[in-house]
Order: sequence, then structure tokens, then C-alpha cells
Amino acid sequence: LSEQFKQALPILKKIEEAGFQAYFVGGAVRDLIIGREVNDVDIATSALPQEVKGIFPKTVDVGIEHGTILVIHNGEGYEITTFRTEKGYEDFRRPSEVSFVRNLEEDLQRRDFTINAIAMNANGEFVDPFNGLEDIEQKVIRTVGSADERFQEDALRMMRAIRFQSQLGFTMDKTCREGLENNAALLEHIAIERKLQEFEKLLLGEYVSIYWADFLSLKLSDYLPGIKRNRELLKLFHTFRLSHLTITERWTLLFYCLKIDDPSTLLKQWKASNKRIKDCRLLLQVFYQRLQRDWTDYDLYNVELPTILSIEKLMNSIGNSYFSKKDIEERIDTLAIKNGDLLAVTGKDLQAWANKKGGPWIKECLELIEKEILSRNLPNEKDAIEKWVMNEWLHRSNNN
Ligand code: ATP
Ligand code: MG
Repeated sequence: LSEQFKQALPILKKIEEAGFQAYFVGGAVRDLIIGREVNDVDIATSALPQEVKGIFPKTVDVGIEHGTILVIHNGEGYEITTFRTEKGYEDFRRPSEVSFVRNLEEDLQRRDFTINAIAMNANGEFVDPFNGLEDIEQKVIRTVGSADERFQEDALRMMRAIRFQSQLGFTMDKTCREGLENNAALLEHIAIERKLQEFEKLLLGEYVSIYWADFLSLKLSDYLPGIKRNRELLKLFHTFRLSHLTITERWTLLFYCLKIDDPSTLLKQWKASNKRIKDCRLLLQVFYQRLQRDWTDYDLYNVELPTILSIEKLMNSIGNSYFSKKDIEERIDTLAIKNGDLLAVTGKDLQAWANKKGGPWIKECLELIEKEILSRNLPNEKDAIEKWVMNEWLHRSNNN
């Protein structure tokens, strides 16, 4: 049993001692069985939220109306959710109403896929009414009950199905796939933020290359920004070596496939965060430049090391020749000044020497000084730089 489960065992035991049932459920149980790394363990119980709060001294009401209480145990938080059923799905989205139940099987029945509907108790015994264990064995993604019905209740489940293919390397069974084809258009009712979350998990999936063509062939992808008219271009994505790439790096390769210069329009359609947009813009811009030419000394000085290393990963990923981290570090080592080094002069010095007001010329001049120093035409010393500014630069700019 992995650490996360071991740490959480006393919680299950305490709930049982209080006379209720408690199980590990959801993705953590699935990942434990598969042997994947487990993120957070979810716990389900027959105890009502108020009863859970009575058992543990430290709790936080994170989603009490849905039955979820956060229990703090040894400094870690564990989500404990009361067995529940869901009713009143309106607009093909989340349920408007949840009812608490005392029966585990009813709780498992509301879950999306059989592989996500397995419970495990403190003794490591499984409760598996929908044969999720067998589906894990067969590497199959199958809905709990009718695919059509389950996708009509909550259309996001269709996106979850394809992201599980990409994450787990499992394949949808026939009815799940047909359900996806029949109900693809319902995805329009789902908030773009929720679709983005699933799409990024799909992009990050270990098996994304294998399932990419399948994803593009599904009608479902018509209902996601940027895909419908670009399938041919996007096909290229599956040929890249993607392992070890971050989400920003993977997005950048998507934009590269799409031949997009400025990713913000598309990322805004996805309602991506400003940080995501900023990171992708920078990386894409530097990547296009790098595809044109090798790094200059000035680039190596001016661009932050993590960005340079990201770009080299991308070069490798698309099959171009690239520099290893060691190569880059060796080249940076030979530079006269390094990114983050202080120049011996500031803009204030320049203003005093030139007897001129501040303005864009200061940035230009500092950049020229940096380039002179990097070419070793000038040492990074105040007197020498002053001489250069007075003799070379002021002359030069007065003549223009
Ligand atoms: P991940 O590894 O990405 O966390 P997960 O399966 O744990 O995957 P969560 O979103 O954390 O996904 O949900 C936890 C569990 O809740 C799922 O395993 C599933 O049983 C259930 N669940 C989540 N979303 C839905 C949904 N839209 N419809 C039905 N059941 C769901
Ligand atoms: Mg989870």
C-alpha cells in the first residue's frame, strides 16, 4: 500500500469504530490497482456530514452541501464524502440535488466509469458491483450503466472518457464510444473551464500520442475551441516525443502545429488563465526564433535559463538537433556576463554622462553596452564603459 493510503488508514478505522462504514473510493483506488502514482485519496462513508464532524476534532466544511468534509489528520487534509445519489440533472450538467444514502452501492452507481466505481475498505477488500476490476484488467473504459443516459446526465463525462484513454492507455468499449458519437453536441452545455481541465489532462496523458488520432476523429472534438477546421494540421502532434514535456511546452507544440503566432486568441476561447497565456506566448515566440537560428551569446545572456532549456526540449521533441542542459550550461559558462549579473553602470550613470533626459535611448544604450561586453570588446567596468559611452556611443547617436 502506498504512503497516502497508509497515512489515511487511521481515518477509516476511526469512522468504523464510531459505527459507520468507510471506504477508499474513486481515482486513488483505480490508480492503486493499476500501479500508477496516486494523487489524493478520497474517502466515502455512510456517516452524515454532521456525524463525520463529531468524530474528528479538526475539520473544514469544504463542500458540506454535497456531503464533503475535509478532515485534518497529521497536518494533511482528507476529503470525506457521505454516500450519496444524484438527481435532477438539468441542462446536461451537474445535478441540482444530492441525497445522502447509507448504502455504498448506491454511491458507486452514480460514478462515471466502472474503473472509478470500485471501493476498498481498511482491510484492502474491494467492493466492485460493476466489475471495474475486470475492466482494469482488460484496459477498458465502460460507463456505469447506459452510456447514453450517463452522458446525457453530465456531458463532461465524455471528455473524461477520452482523457482517461490518454492518461491510462485504456480504450473505450463500443457502447461508450457510440454514446460519445450520439451525444457529442451536448458538450456545448458544459462550462469551458471544466472542459479545459479535462483537455489539459488529456494533453498531459502518458498515452496521448497513441490516442491523439482517435481524439481528433471523434465528433466530440468539434465542440472544443480550435480543432474543428484544423484536424489535418493537428495530426502532426502525435509524431512528437512528448514525455517529460510540461503543459506549457505541450500547448506550444499545438500552436506550432496550428502555425499560430499569437496563442492568446485561442487560449482566451478556452478561458485559460493569464499565466498560461503569458507562458505560452513567451515560449512560442522564442521557439519560432530558435527554429530560425542558433542562440547568440546575447540570447544566452538575455533569455532565462529555464526558457532556454524548455526550447531545447521542444527541439528534441520535434526531432531537430538540440543542445543538452550540459551543452547550454557550458556555453553560458564562457560568457563574459551572465543572465542576472549586474552591469557596472545604470541608466542614471548614462543620463549624467550624456546630460540627457531619460527615455527609450537608455534601454537601447544599455543593450549595446551588454553586447559590447559579451563580444569582449569592453570590460564590465565603470570607467571603461564611461569612456565607451562618451567616445563611441554619443558620437554614433549624434551622427544619426
Ligand atoms: P484524477 O486522477 O484525475 O483525480 P479521478 O477519477 O480521481 O481522476 P476526480 O475528478 O478526482 O477524478 O473524481 C473522483 C471520483 O469521483 C471519480 O473517480 C469518479 O468516481 C467520480 N466522478 C468524478 N467526476 C464525475 C462525473 N462527472 N460523473 C460521475 N462521477 C464522477
Ligand atoms: Mg481524483
